Amino acid sequence: MGSDILSTDVFIAGGGPAGLAAGIAIRRRGLRVLLADPARPPIDKACGEGLMPNTVASLRLLGVKLCTGDAIPFRGIRFINGAETADGAFAEGYGLGIRRTVLHNALAERAVEAGVQCLWGERVTRIAPGEVWLDSRRVRCRWIIAADGQNSQVRKWAGLDRGRPQQIRYGFRQHFCVSPWTDFVEVHWGSNCQIVVTPVRPDEVCLVATSGSPRIRLKEALVQCPEIVRRLKGESPITRDLGAITALRVLRTVHWDQIALVGDASGSVDSLTGEGLGLAFRQAEALAEAIACNHLARYQAAHRRINRFPEIMSRLLLALGNRPKLRRHTILALAKEPHSFARLLAVHTGTFSPSTVGFGNLLRLGRRLIAEPS
Ligand SMILES: Cc1cc2nc3c(=O)[nH]c(=O)nc-3n(C[C@H](O)[C@H](O)[C@H](O)COP(=O)(O)OP(=O)(O)OC[C@H]3O[C@@H](n4cnc5c(N)ncnc54)[C@H](O)[C@@H]3O)c2cc1C
Repeated sequence: MGSDILSTDVFIAGGGPAGLAAGIAIRRRGLRVLLADPARPPIDKACGEGLMPNTVASLRLLGVKLCTGDAIPFRGIRFINGAETADGAFAEGYGLGIRRTVLHNALAERAVEAGVQCLWGERVTRIAPGEVWLDSRRVRCRWIIAADGQNSQVRKWAGLDRGRPQQIRYGFRQHFCVSPWTDFVEVHWGSNCQIVVTPVRPDEVCLVATSGSPRIRLKEALVQCPEIVRRLKGESPITRDLGAITALRVLRTVHWDQIALVGDASGSVDSLTGEGLGLAFRQAEALAEAIACNHLARYQAAHRRINRFPEIMSRLLLALGNRPKLRRHTILALAKEPHSFARLLAVHTGTFSPSTVGFGNLLRLGRRLIAEPS
């Protein structure tokens, strides 16, 4: 190991969306930030590449600028289950479909502009209070933030790995050169998998297959969704098959001493919610605020608040995936009442709070359904 010793106020392990957002938010409060990641921008990852309206708003707050043509707006979510279809339009704003690499580039550029010092190609190998070891140097810091993703090593070193048993699934992503056929993000439900279709460019769609088995890749999942096969008109994928784990993981605590977790490292929701990036951005703001006030306990409370509804939605969506009858009834009910679907989305994306739209009963019903044996 080299003898190079750096010094900063805040050190961030991981330069994915969560680490970069935290870096930008903390710089805006005037602290020095140093971030390290073994990869280099633009970092790709299997992702549905859909940003919900509240996630788009968070990006704006972070000062991230997207150029025309970088992203495609969408106006809601469509569920398709065989012959049943239900459309939920966003009450306010619009979502954005955006290639993961384009989003990462925009965040990385904004981080540099905000004054975050980024050490790309450097892995965190060890931590101690106020000290971090990288591949080739050491960093002294006041705060350590773990933004190193789903399998966070920093979280394990900090002893913050405890939580409820997680529900793991597998996602596989590919792009197709086909003009988007709708301005909705489509969720197609198969018997044991789902495919999410997101428009990401004027001539390109992103497809992600998710299921409980690592053997069900996009090719296998498409057999269950003939409607998508018809839309793809025989086009071959233009990107390779990229996989990742998606998990509903709820941790007991997200900070200890001067160490805090953010993004997937701090727990995650199933990818079907389309909320992973939005949670990371909102947590990043809350964490920056707590660090600026020297009061990490505030972050714990804010984190619980930010994650609560998306965690409930995760459980509901996983229940729909596992229970065909419940799925059919729910999608038929949502199709009959598009306003209910719209209001559910509005709660999901934070436009309305559950109490203002009287969703308490629906949530209780949802919880009861999930608790019932199939
Ligand atoms: C299949 C799938 C589909 C999804 N679809 C959507 C969607 O449509 N919309 C949405 O909002 N969310 C979606 N998500 C969720 C979203 O991708 C994640 O929530 C998001 O990537 C979390 O960002 P992050 O920065 O916390 O983690 P990551 O993106 O995983 O970044 C972690 C970073 O940490 C770095 N790292 C790892 N180890 C170390 C180390 N030792 N030292 C330093 N750095 C390290 C890695 O190189 C990486 O760059 C999806 C997820 C999956 C799996």
